[in-house]
Amino acid sequence: MALKITHDCINCDVCEPECPNEAISQGIEIYQIDPQLCTECVGHFDRPQCVAVCPVDCIPLDPEHAETQEQLLQKYRRLTTLTR
Ligand code: SF4
Ligand code: SF4
Repeated sequence: MALKITHDCINCDVCEPECPNEAISQGIEIYQIDPQLCTECVGHFDRPQCVAVCPVDCIPLDPEHAETQEQLLQKYRRLTTLTR
């Protein structure tokens, strides 16, 4: 399941450089996560790095993008193959 950034985001900029998949970018008002790129950090780290650094705890799971652990791993493999 990809994660999403809620409107509690204070645009502090700390999550963007932590994402191993470059899934986080500045949106019109707040930061946003591209669900096509977010793997919950599966394949890179044992927990979501954006959640670990966010000072206001505004990055929940996005139920609209439900994925199994295996699907996240497949996404990770696809992304790392593409960027190689
Ligand atoms: S969970 Fe990981 S891959 Fe997804 S947006 Fe956060 S840092 Fe990036
Ligand atoms: S770390 Fe949290 S508050 Fe800061 S930009 Fe990212 S989502 Fe927004």
